[in-house]
This record gives sequence, structure tokens and C-alpha cells, in this order.
Amino acid sequence: MYTITLIPGDGIGPEIAEATRRVIEATGVPITWEAQDAGEDVYKKEGRPLPQRVIDSIKKNKIAIKGPVTTPIGSGFRSVNVTLRLALDLYSCLRPCRSFKGARTRYDNIDLVIVRENTEDLYAGIEFQKGREDTKRLIDFVKASTGKDIRQDSGISIKPISVYGSERIVRFAFEYARKNKRKKVTAVHKANIMKYSDGLFLEAARSVASNYTDIEFEDRIIDNMCMQLVQKPEKYDVIVLPNLYGDIVSDLAAGLIGGLGLAPGANIGEEMAVFEPTHGSAPKYKGLNKMNPFAMMLSGVMMLRHLGESNAAQRLEAAIAAVIEEGRHVTYDMKPKPDDPTAAGTSEAADAVIEKLKVSVNSDSVSKETLSAGTEH
Ligand code: NAD
Repeated sequence: MYTITLIPGDGIGPEIAEATRRVIEATGVPITWEAQDAGEDVYKKEGRPLPQRVIDSIKKNKIAIKGPVTTPIGSGFRSVNVTLRLALDLYSCLRPCRSFKGARTRYDNIDLVIVRENTEDLYAGIEFQKGREDTKRLIDFVKASTGKDIRQDSGISIKPISVYGSERIVRFAFEYARKNKRKKVTAVHKANIMKYSDGLFLEAARSVASNYTDIEFEDRIIDNMCMQLVQKPEKYDVIVLPNLYGDIVSDLAAGLIGGLGLAPGANIGEEMAVFEPTHGSAPKYKGLNKMNPFAMMLSGVMMLRHLGESNAAQRLEAAIAAVIEEGRHVTYDMKPKPDDPTAAGTSEAADAVIEKLKVSVNSDSVSKETLSAGTEH
């Protein structure tokens, strides 16, 4: 019996989390769920969007599955998602994106794995607000040490990228590639402009790559990478990026396979892992039983694999793939037109997956992956 922390999140989170819990239970893997609320409503009730009890529960159980949580824009509390990744040092964000038969996309041959660094870069949360005393001191320091002017009415975000953080994420990408029989790792950066942060990332990537001569290594500048992914995505395999580029390219890759409704993910550290879809809380759709639960269900597939329940993972993935291929009980985003009256609701899509689990389905849409994680220390 596994005990797993379940964070439903807010916005559409609770609906897709409930659909995911139901399909995972239908695989027969014995799980006790420890439900832990976090997010906007918790902030209103408890004064903190991410209470310590949530972190303690994950530390105890080592595994969590999480729905999306809303982050106020510009002001208000810091992102629960980012805080959680930093608090638990979940340094690797693993986001496989591959084509499902029947999904409506411009491509039918996508098989990419995005490995995003999760703890550094502009997500470190080191920011200086416009007009404050410490911001003025920082502006003076920059002028004194570099001779460069920053306008007095500037806000400043700091972008730290370390050798330690870069090497461990690139190592994760290579270990993942090796264990899952993937052929190439591409490191992405803007080292031509940011020589001391992205340049350092590239140097660290090259150094780690020299220990993995069985796997091809190359690098791309981020802007070129975006164009290449749209033009010839089949040329890429495992892609490793610093935090912000990883965030953006994850959504780009989701777009290649038919949208955010199909893009799963995992945040993985040395000891703990939190599985969550790439997409956010889509607040305007809250409570409508309308949104696609497959990205969170596929995050559940990654979780089952991480637990070593590969048979259950395989069956669940095949069941989801079969529902997608049939195209009948899928949500509006997977129908030819968004206002298609035959679109399934979130819970009906879950019912359809559960029906498929009852008859064992075979699907060649099931991924080749054997492991969700790349590191075993
Ligand atoms: P979003 O991912 O929530 O939604 C953008 C659009 O993508 C939606 O309007 C919808 O058209 C589509 N979409 C998203 N999920 C879908 C699904 N399951 N099925 C079908 N279509 C789907 O992005 P946003 O609107 O930029 O962000 C909303 C909130 O979510 C923000 O507060 C943001 O900070 C937060 N967010 C949270 C996480 C997380 O919890 N890990 C990740 C990203 C964004």
C-alpha cells in the first residue's frame, strides 16, 4: 500500500485531480491518498497559500501528485508551484511530449523530452522593486563596479545560474537518456548574450557531456531552438534547458502534440517527486467539468512508473491512448471544433478511460519510457 500526497490545487485543479485519482484507483494499485489543499482559497482561510502541513506531508510520503495552483500576477503571494519546487529541491522538471494517434495536431511524429532546471535562473525569486532603497543601492553598486547605468525607475530580477545546478540537471538529462535508450541531448542557452550565466550553463553541459560519449550532444541558442522545433521537431530528442527557457519551450512542445491538455510532467529531486501537468489552473473554466484531464492522468502514469508499477502505468497509458484514438469521449479541446456538442466533460473522459481499463487494450501509442526518473543515487 502506497501513501501519496494529493494536492488538488485550485481553478480546474480539483476536477482534473478527481478524474486522475479515479483512473489511478481503477488500475488496482493500492494507494491511500493524503489530500492536502493549497492555493488561493487556503491563502484566504489560513493566511498562507502553501502551509507547512503540505510540505511535511510530501516529505513524509516522498511522492505527491498535484493539480495546478493559481499565481496572482504582478503582486500577491509568490507562486506555490515555484515555492514547493525550491522548498523540496525538486531540481528537475521532466516533461515528455509525444504524439498520440487521433490527437489533432500539425505533426504526427513528435517524441520529445523536455528537462527543465527547476531551482535557479530568473525563477530564484530574487527581485528588487522599483524605487526601494535596496534597489537604489544595487543600481549604485552596478554603476560603481561595471560603469553601466540602470535607469532609476527600474525593477530588477536576478538570474543566478550555478555550476552545481547546471551540472546536476544536465547529468539528469543524460542519465534519463541512457536509461530510456534515447540518442541525443540538446542543451539550450543564450550564451552569446549572457556569457556569465548561460555561458556557464553551456560550459557545464559540455563538461558533463564528455562523460557520456555513448549519447550524442549538441547545443542550440534558444531563439533558433524555437524555430527548429516548429520546423523540424523530429530532429530532437532530449532537450535540457535552464528554468525560464524550459518553461517556455515546455508549452511550445505541448503545442506540437495537440495542446496543454496532453502534456504531463514531474518535478524530481534526490528523494522526492511531485507529479503535475504542464498547464496551469485555467481559472475561467473552474467548476465547468469541461477541461481535459489527460495531462494530469499522464502525470499519474509517470508517477506509477516512478513507483515501479510499470504494468499499471502501461495499462493506464494504453487506456488513455485508446480513448484519444477513438475520439468520442474526449474534451472540447480535442474535438474538431471547440463548440462540438459531443465533447465529453472532465468526468466523462475519466469514465471512458476506466471502461478501457476494464478490457485490456493494446496500443502502439504507449511510450517507450521505462523510467520516469533519470537519477538513482
Ligand atoms: P493555463 O495553462 O492555466 O491555461 C492557458 C490555456 O490553455 C487555457 O485558457 C486553456 O485554453 C488551455 N488549457 C490549459 N489547461 C487545459 C486543459 N487541462 N484542458 C484543455 N485546455 C487547457 O495558463 P494561464 O492562463 O497562463 O495560467 C492560469 C494560472 O495558472 C496562472 O495563475 C498561472 O500562474 C497558473 N499556472 C500554474 C501552474 C502550476 O500549477 N504548475 C503552471 C502554469 C500556470
